[in-house]
Amino acid sequence: MDEKKLYSPKVMKDILEKNGFKFSKRLGQNFLIDGNIISKIVEAAGVDEKSGVIEIGPGFGTLTQGLCKKAKKVVAIEIDKSLKQVHKETLNYDNIKIIYEDFMKIDVDKLIEEEFEGLDVKIVANLPYYITTPIIMKILEEKYKISKIVVMVQKEVAQRLNAQPGTKEYGAITLAVQYRADTNVSMIVPNTVFMPRPKVDSAVISLDVLKEPRIVVEDEKVLFKVIKGSFGQRRKTLLNGLSNNLHLPKELVKEVLDKVNISPSIRGETLTLKEFGNISNEMINVLDDENMV
Ligand code: SAM
Repeated sequence: MDEKKLYSPKVMKDILEKNGFKFSKRLGQNFLIDGNIISKIVEAAGVDEKSGVIEIGPGFGTLTQGLCKKAKKVVAIEIDKSLKQVHKETLNYDNIKIIYEDFMKIDVDKLIEEEFEGLDVKIVANLPYYITTPIIMKILEEKYKISKIVVMVQKEVAQRLNAQPGTKEYGAITLAVQYRADTNVSMIVPNTVFMPRPKVDSAVISLDVLKEPRIVVEDEKVLFKVIKGSFGQRRKTLLNGLSNNLHLPKELVKEVLDKVNISPSIRGETLTLKEFGNISNEMINVLDDENMV
């Protein structure tokens, strides 16, 4: 088993240089070089011998090494095939499987079924910035059988996950998180713990997936569509936003909003999760099949 301290900047530089690896800014490649932060992430995720962990973007493998030491099994999904050679040196563990693919294309339900039978499944990642929101939305919308999500994100994204209605940080992702999980900011992480250093600080967020979603709705897919439709164009009124983004006649949207006592001229960012739930339930009642969202 490879017991090199992967987070040592010297070890990292040597191995990357030897393999001719070039950091890709486009893929958000900032690798962790702090053993203490890695231990804290693994601890925040409560990873133990009963855990199956999905890691998105192992990169050089520093966090992955920490995960492999504690988990029963790790499946890491990395988009950058040029890291394959590097992983032969860094991730020589017998409880890891690495899939070289875009996480957005992965059938996670199937993966969980095939790889993690009987294990408590968690998603742990230091997420690439360019695709943080789509990744978190995918995880929350697709309702996987997982108990916890622990992700490192840029500080401003962390603020969006925890935002209050009416603030500029409040958005579709805030509501998706509220619907599905309890949120906790585990720690703020300075930019000095990465190679290369990003411009801003990061935060580690823990999302404990609720056994039942926070509100009851008739159709979750409609709820997510309504939420995303309401935030599609920020300066638009709720009526215009919903009718444009969901391609629905204004009269129908107005009828829905009237029924749930919500003014059509307000903006989506002032509504609570409960109100979005009411709109989505009413939409199902009012719309006929032809207009179904
Ligand atoms: N986990 C490593 C660490 O903490 O040092 C690397 C984190 S780095 C911020 C993000 C990693 O995600 C990079 O290795 C990048 O190549 C990978 N990545 C970027 N987009 C991805 C995608 N769509 N699917 C899977 N991995 C992706």
